[in-house]
Amino acid sequence: MWSYTPPLRDMQFVIEDVLQAPAAWAAIPALAELDADTARAVLAEAGRFASEVLAPINSAADLQGCRWRDGVVTTPAGYREAYAAYVQGGWPALSCRPDDGGQGLPVLLDAALNEMIAAANHGWTMYPGLLHGAYECLRAHGSDALKQRYLGKLASGEWLATMNLTEPQAGSDLGLLRTKAEPRADGSYAIIGSKVFISGGEQDLTPNIVHLVLARLPEAPPGTKGISLFLAPKFLPDDMGRARNAIRCTGIEKKMGIKGSATCAMSFDGATGWLIGQPHRGLAAMFVMMNAARLHVALQGLGHLEIAQQNAHAYARERIQGRGKAIAEHPAMRRTLWTLRALAEGERVIAYWAAMLLDESHHHPDAARRAQASDFVGLLTPVAKAFFTDNGHRGADDALQVWGGYGFVHDYGIEQAVRDSRIALIYEGTNEIQAIDLLQRKVLDDGGAKLGGLLARLEADADRVGAASAEFADALRAQTAAARAATAALVAGAQADPEWPLRVADDYLRGIGFTLLAWAWLKRAAAAQPLAGDAWAGDTLRAARFGVQWLLPEAAFRWQRVAAQRAALPSA
Ligand SMILES: Cc1cc2nc3c(=O)[nH]c(=O)nc-3n(C[C@H](O)[C@H](O)[C@H](O)COP(=O)(O)OP(=O)(O)OC[C@H]3O[C@@H](n4cnc5c(N)ncnc54)[C@H](O)[C@@H]3O)c2cc1C
Repeated sequence: MWSYTPPLRDMQFVIEDVLQAPAAWAAIPALAELDADTARAVLAEAGRFASEVLAPINSAADLQGCRWRDGVVTTPAGYREAYAAYVQGGWPALSCRPDDGGQGLPVLLDAALNEMIAAANHGWTMYPGLLHGAYECLRAHGSDALKQRYLGKLASGEWLATMNLTEPQAGSDLGLLRTKAEPRADGSYAIIGSKVFISGGEQDLTPNIVHLVLARLPEAPPGTKGISLFLAPKFLPDDMGRARNAIRCTGIEKKMGIKGSATCAMSFDGATGWLIGQPHRGLAAMFVMMNAARLHVALQGLGHLEIAQQNAHAYARERIQGRGKAIAEHPAMRRTLWTLRALAEGERVIAYWAAMLLDESHHHPDAARRAQASDFVGLLTPVAKAFFTDNGHRGADDALQVWGGYGFVHDYGIEQAVRDSRIALIYEGTNEIQAIDLLQRKVLDDGGAKLGGLLARLEADADRVGAASAEFADALRAQTAAARAATAALVAGAQADPEWPLRVADDYLRGIGFTLLAWAWLKRAAAAQPLAGDAWAGDTLRAARFGVQWLLPEAAFRWQRVAAQRAALPSA
């Protein structure tokens, strides 16, 4: 039956052997007290929470869904208790700063935690999913008064947070949003407007909800330059009588997946809110939250791949078909199983590296290292969000085939994973928007300079590994050369044909995704070789080799398409 085993062995391998994070922590004063043993203990505990508390309530929550009645939302059975246990375990505070009541642990451990909880129960994970981003946003841009009132409550998870961007007419294009914020004499604002698709906009897990809301001040310039960010709580502070704010949940969506997550239509009827950051600079402030949230969504994609591969593997070993053979012995199925494993293991290296770079960008004592880490995170975030969620959903769909007809049946678990994983391609900026963000804003805007720096960093690792990993180093060098050639061609050709990058952004992003995977498989192979004789290490080496031989060829197809699509697309 469907179950989740936290991949602690691989997490430890990636953190300690592949990325050598403990040595990196030692060089950063804010993280220097953490050692590998403590990190292992934290992850083992997080894994227990994911597999023993969240995974067992996932399937029933999918059938039960959320209920809405007169503005009140009831979450599925077990959700409240699981959230109380999450808060009691101190999990929301894991990477928050100690002076806000947090544990000051690296974002890297928070990433591993989020991978596990998303794999075990994506719907439930939506509720705390925005907590850390809201905390970071408020910390970076909130007034002292707001920080004093709300940071501690968010760090502890006592109150949950939401992100109120989307409106019926404003989805990918937030420049179209109409919600208004009118200044009041006491320095607060009256927020008036409607939002849709707000995850956790109303819920029964916490006594208060901290809504972060995008709205326009009077006489704001049109488009995205006229958007400001506000904090509006469900219940007003003690000195305002803890009155219920004028915020209502007017309904919840019936959806394809993540049915345990309440997706709310919200009405702000003159709700009291306070400005976060500068007027008209709301999107910049919100981006702090969105970047953190995008890495979490990438981890949802990875989590879906991991749990699909675990369960597909277990089923394929037991099910006998075709001359007494287990399904796992048929080459067509073996190929699927190795694909899932190679992708999940490669993506884990990339995701955790991105998280390590986030830690470096926040805490490294050297300013140049902080700046470079931040540039690399800027490039990795859209790739991880779009590439991992694409692979997570496709991987779950391919895995379903391993069960044959039983895969189509709810009781076996995989059909829920196929449905749940689909949303991750859409929210937090659709995957098309991620691809444009990568190619247009992050690569073409500086003529490919930062990307060149990232590729050089990958190539330096290819030069460092010994002769035993030569096949992996050659594969990586071929990928970086292809990525450089495609980038140079786009830089040269984009002015004459500005639509060209937009036509091929998706292929470009997948090409970069595979380049990063080639690097991840190289790093894994190099770290696994000294462990010769260990059965698990042998398998992970086989998975890396499979990735290079069977999956990297897609990159060549993607780069070919980037080069070939010079002709305009016909209009729809
Ligand atoms: C379950 C769920 C939870 C959500 N949670 C939240 C939340 O908590 N807070 C919140 O604010 N929002 C949330 N959303 C909203 C989500 O972020 C939006 O659905 C998403 O941004 C896309 O907007 P849209 O649905 O209006 O699609 P549209 O913007 O109408 O896009 C439709 C299609 O056109 C493509 N497209 C649009 N513009 C471009 C372009 N310039 N170039 C290329 N392609 C383009 C898109 O990629 C997409 O494929 C949630 C949505 C869902 C379904």
